[in-house]
Amino acid sequence: MNKTEQLTKLNDKMSKCSKCALHSNRGHVVFGTGNPEAKIMFIGEAPGKKEDELGIPFVGSSGRILDKMIESIKMKRQDVYITNICKCRPPENRDPLPEEIQECWPWLEKQIEIIDPKIIVTLGKFALNSFLPVAKISEAHGKIIETKIPKIGNIKIFPLHHPAAARINKKTRAIFEEDFKKIPKLLQNKKEQ
Ligand code: URA
Repeated sequence: MNKTEQLTKLNDKMSKCSKCALHSNRGHVVFGTGNPEAKIMFIGEAPGKKEDELGIPFVGSSGRILDKMIESIKMKRQDVYITNICKCRPPENRDPLPEEIQECWPWLEKQIEIIDPKIIVTLGKFALNSFLPVAKISEAHGKIIETKIPKIGNIKIFPLHHPAAARINKKTRAIFEEDFKKIPKLLQNKKEQ
């Protein structure tokens, strides 16, 4: 099976998921979108209202910022893969609970295994801490961090602030934009820090 077929099969299973309480109020399971062959995977927190309605990640105000940044490095949404650590919307956009993140983790793990990206860009602290539980976004942002995760092995994480944080804070926006500019080089050079 090629990557597209593997993802389609995975999404089919994910659409029936009822492992945590979030399934009972969801509009859609928000699997992820983009290129199954992507070299870069962006991983956010959880779907918001609009994402839940449409079944597509990052289509609201945070998504507009992410799109703009992706275009700023001469890429398109179709070139990358975008998903979240939680595939269903937490009520009132509250933070995902540790048990929700934990139950959803195997879906993300499988997506990473199939896509096998060169770089995983975590957006915000929840995504970062899913991979590196004690890392601080204020220190880790903009740096390549090599780590190992069970079932997959070695991966490269490039933590960024969440676009929503960049939207509400000018300083965070400036850092977010600076960090984003490093991405093209990271994709070219395997050993680039
Ligand atoms: N939309 C998403 O899909 N994920 C986020 O983390 C925020 C908005």
